[in-house]
Amino acid sequence: MMHPTPSWTEHIKAAAITGIIVFAACVLGILSRPMGHLAALWPANALLIGLFVRFPKLNNAFGWLGAILAYFMADIMTGNNWSANLMLTAGNLVCVVTGVLLFSWLDEEHRRLKHPLSVLYLALVASCAAAATGVVGVIADPILSNANPLKNWAFWSVIELANLMAVLPVMLSLPDLSGLRLDRRRAFKTEHFHVSKILPVCALLISLALGIIVGGPGALVFPIPALLWCALSYDIFITSILTLLYSGWVLIAMSLGYLPISIVNMNSRPMLLSIRIGVSLMALAPLTVACVMAAREELLRQLKYIAEHDQLTALLNRRAFNERAANLLARLSEQTRPVAVLMLDIDKFKDVNDTYGHAGGDRVLVAFARIASAGLRNIDMLGRIGGEEFAAVLPGCGQKEAAKIAQRIRSKLADTSIDLGDGQQITVTVSIGVSFAQQAIPDIEALLLVADKALYRAKENGRNRVESDDLDA
Ligand code: GH3
Ligand code: MG
Ligand code: MG
Repeated sequence: MMHPTPSWTEHIKAAAITGIIVFAACVLGILSRPMGHLAALWPANALLIGLFVRFPKLNNAFGWLGAILAYFMADIMTGNNWSANLMLTAGNLVCVVTGVLLFSWLDEEHRRLKHPLSVLYLALVASCAAAATGVVGVIADPILSNANPLKNWAFWSVIELANLMAVLPVMLSLPDLSGLRLDRRRAFKTEHFHVSKILPVCALLISLALGIIVGGPGALVFPIPALLWCALSYDIFITSILTLLYSGWVLIAMSLGYLPISIVNMNSRPMLLSIRIGVSLMALAPLTVACVMAAREELLRQLKYIAEHDQLTALLNRRAFNERAANLLARLSEQTRPVAVLMLDIDKFKDVNDTYGHAGGDRVLVAFARIASAGLRNIDMLGRIGGEEFAAVLPGCGQKEAAKIAQRIRSKLADTSIDLGDGQQITVTVSIGVSFAQQAIPDIEALLLVADKALYRAKENGRNRVESDDLDA
């Protein structure tokens, strides 16, 4: 497929988006500098990697240009000299290039944290990007400080690793922006708020508070059980945000002295390194649990789909149809609303198989399923309950309307020539039996039986016909 060449406005948009986000993130990082030696918080690189991975349209020359300008401009604001500015920007870019390149080698599944092992890959990518950044840090060393090169490398790498591990999961698991509005609306409609849903977050807040009250090195891990509970209860995106809050809370609470960990010289480099590595590694636990849960839910969703649908036509299978029809009828019966049930059976289908082979017959079944679905209303339910037998429940449907819908399906099928794939085209017909109840009864079997009798009559009366029966008559 040919992709249209992006216009200039799109180029400028890409540069502006990356530029503004990187600049804002740099300013945030610069504001947090007093807390540590380098920035305590430096979300810019992780945000940019996340942007390029999640929105590949931005990953072009203009997107990069916007980002580079933003790094430079933000650093000029801090009054760094040109050479320091150049080194810091180079360090940031090495980090982003390494991260984006390594992520491009991973499967989309891993890039979106949808596999139980995704967090492991994320940790590897972040470690490589952080280690590469550290190399620039060593080269920059004579400009910024005079520490030993290996220590300097470790310091830069660990700081970067902590930032990447905190921010990247949020970016990678960001819900799709296009589907977000629609999803939210649906979520509001169907999901009932339940107090139990906020319990894990409450537990997290309590454990954070407990850490402040009790103090000591153990306070760092107080929130872990609550975070694991969150990971079991919420999706990976929410878990990533909560984990980010936890990491941020540890770093900020320590710098401000709210977390009275009685270690001498808290701000010494080895101590900072140790705690940052520890916090980054601890964050892996809830993230992994959330990934495993997401993968498990996806698997269950797929299994449920397979268990409930016919493989050939993708319609509901007999079991799922009966189960859902029973629920629907119970609701309709409570509301004393009318219902119609259709039994549809393709005419002389055995002859189709005998003449055109089983594969030809299968094509006819698929075509019929499509025509029947299109002929029904959105609220109707259609299932394949046997070889070439289908059934439908039409909630709230009047008797005349049901007969009209059945006729519509019947005539549409009779008028459609079905392509058998080998150059041959055939037409087939269907016979339909309709049962109707002015007040729905919660008994799908009874309704199907009456529809089946009407169907039998349609067959007897020459096929390609619709026959109806009123349950109350
Ligand atoms: P009638 O007009 O009385 O309904 O005649 P008919 O030939 O359609 O009825 P019958 O029930 O005798 O034949 C149904 C045929 O459907 C027999 C079976 O081989 C075929 N069949 C069942 N399941 C499938 C399937 O999944 N694919 C194909 N191609 N044929 C199937
Ligand atoms: Mg048949
Ligand atoms: Mg049959």
